[in-house]
Amino acid sequence: MARRRVLPGAWRHCAAMLLAALAATARAADYSGPLFDAHLHYNEEAWEGATAPHPLADVLARMKRNNVAAVVANSRPNAGTQALATSALTRDAGVTVLPFVRLYRNRADYNNWFRDESIYQMVLDELARGTPAGPFRGIGEFHLYDSANAEGPVAKKLMALAEQRNLVVLAHVDDAAIDLLMAATPSQGRNLRLIWAHTGIGGTPVARVEQLLARYPLLMGELSYRPGLACDGGKLCPDWRALMLKYPTRFMIGSDTWVNQRWMYYDELMKGYRAWLGDLPADVARRVAWENGAGLFGLSPR
Ligand SMILES: [Zn+2]
Repeated sequence: MARRRVLPGAWRHCAAMLLAALAATARAADYSGPLFDAHLHYNEEAWEGATAPHPLADVLARMKRNNVAAVVANSRPNAGTQALATSALTRDAGVTVLPFVRLYRNRADYNNWFRDESIYQMVLDELARGTPAGPFRGIGEFHLYDSANAEGPVAKKLMALAEQRNLVVLAHVDDAAIDLLMAATPSQGRNLRLIWAHTGIGGTPVARVEQLLARYPLLMGELSYRPGLACDGGKLCPDWRALMLKYPTRFMIGSDTWVNQRWMYYDELMKGYRAWLGDLPADVARRVAWENGAGLFGLSPR
């Protein structure tokens, strides 16, 4: 009988230990809502030729099974974006495509676009042409490997053009170039909607990212390849989590399918995002995953 009186207490103790252990190891459920891919390329090596590894049906299937409901699309050359934006397959898949004008006709343009007047004319021509599904919504992605080139004559003209025509800019640049590009606009950057591809791929300190977000109210950070973002177990590192909680309306996720390998691992990329999004409060996760991108382009809620 004495044993009987002891057991319930022992059980309570064991149960408490077990619950504590579970709480310590439990992780938040992954984010399961819609995703907005704010940095997607559909370059010719993905779709060109009869044996193309990633024809339209393939990339749309990847978006659909990951619940990627809208994408910022650009490509070298622009034909890939045109195809993605206008295909009946895209409509059937329920994917909204926001087409951007890429500044590169070929690899040589990567290192010369910011001073090449023929690129400016090409952008004007592409904007006038639009796509059969509607106008282009932005310019980019473009790269500046030397931030001083943000002061190139064509770079400055394109930033002013983007602000005047209410186009979104997708820029793979460092933090110094963000200031220079913003300075080239009529509003000194207050009215330019700029998506900062990778939010500092060279590891711009979090404090400097925060300073730029505070300085430019329409600056958005896209988070592919961002060093220092994810820590143990694929969770957000503490400084990034704090920054997202402070600026919940300013970040977005992206695939950056710049080479075919990124298409091959598209599922894993999106699963990785869902894992750390799940660590954020639900309303913040949904903003970063979907609403910030949707809001930037006036899409209706999902
Ligand atoms: Zn890219």
